[in-house]
Amino acid sequence: MSLAKQTFVSAFLEGKTAVVTGAGRGIGKMISEILARNGAFVSMVGRSSKNLNEASESLKMKGLKVETIQCDVSDSSQVDAAVAQILEKQGSIHILVNGAGITKDGLILRMKDEDFSEVLRVNLFGTFYFSRAAAKVMVKQKEGKIINIASIVGVTGNPGQANYAASKAGIIGLTKTLAKELASRNITVNALAPGYIVTDMTEKLPEKTRTELAERIPMGTLGSTEDVAYAVLFLASPYARYITGQVLHIDGGMVM
Ligand code: NAP
Repeated sequence: MSLAKQTFVSAFLEGKTAVVTGAGRGIGKMISEILARNGAFVSMVGRSSKNLNEASESLKMKGLKVETIQCDVSDSSQVDAAVAQILEKQGSIHILVNGAGITKDGLILRMKDEDFSEVLRVNLFGTFYFSRAAAKVMVKQKEGKIINIASIVGVTGNPGQANYAASKAGIIGLTKTLAKELASRNITVNALAPGYIVTDMTEKLPEKTRTELAERIPMGTLGSTEDVAYAVLFLASPYARYITGQVLHIDGGMVM
């Protein structure tokens, strides 16, 4: 049985409010579920209200406490409005997970300006906008956990993904800098670097590519959304109190 389907609900995040971006599908949706199963109230942020509503309804059916906030993370005024809306209702933000992300792959010689800038605007600028808005709240609270979803591609580079790799490497630099700026305020900032995880993003890859990828992974398979979500849960938990500025790889041993 998959871990997420287990019926236990532990409560060590009871009373905590979490914001997860990119929560309508894939990794962000599973992170929302795992945080809510452990007691957090989760504000699920995303672009498509249809995806958000479907995702939140399925979690509410399980008795979990979530709400939806429609917001394009690449627009700083929308992000500030979303955070104000969350604060008005919830009064606090203890955990922020920056999970919204896109790819627009292509080799450098053919990559258009807009394909480069759009990926940077969503992945990197979106992470910056949400972190800045949430950090203002967390500094006042003297408590916070920011968890950014980077990628091993931000560490290793990857042909055809100049835009995506630059955005994820940028997230790693942003993470380390915020960790240093905010450590004295009892706020930790860490990044996860997933390898290849089964979601819509990797479903786009041809079957042959996915088989070849699995052969390059020491553990022999692609990861699951739960593999990423449980790492978020750990970093958001009191057990990770003394961990900040780190990049945790969740990749079945691909990059060591
Ligand atoms: P996904 O299934 O494609 O989902 C991406 C999510 O991001 C969707 O909910 C999408 O919203 C949201 N999003 C995209 N642009 C947005 C915007 N401008 N504003 C708000 N939300 C936006 O992707 P995933 O595989 O779950 O990936 C989640 C994160 O993990 C991404 O940051 C990705 O780069 C990272 N990652 C994934 C893998 C992998 O193998 N899957 C590996 C390493 C890192 P809509 O539903 O509205 O479109």
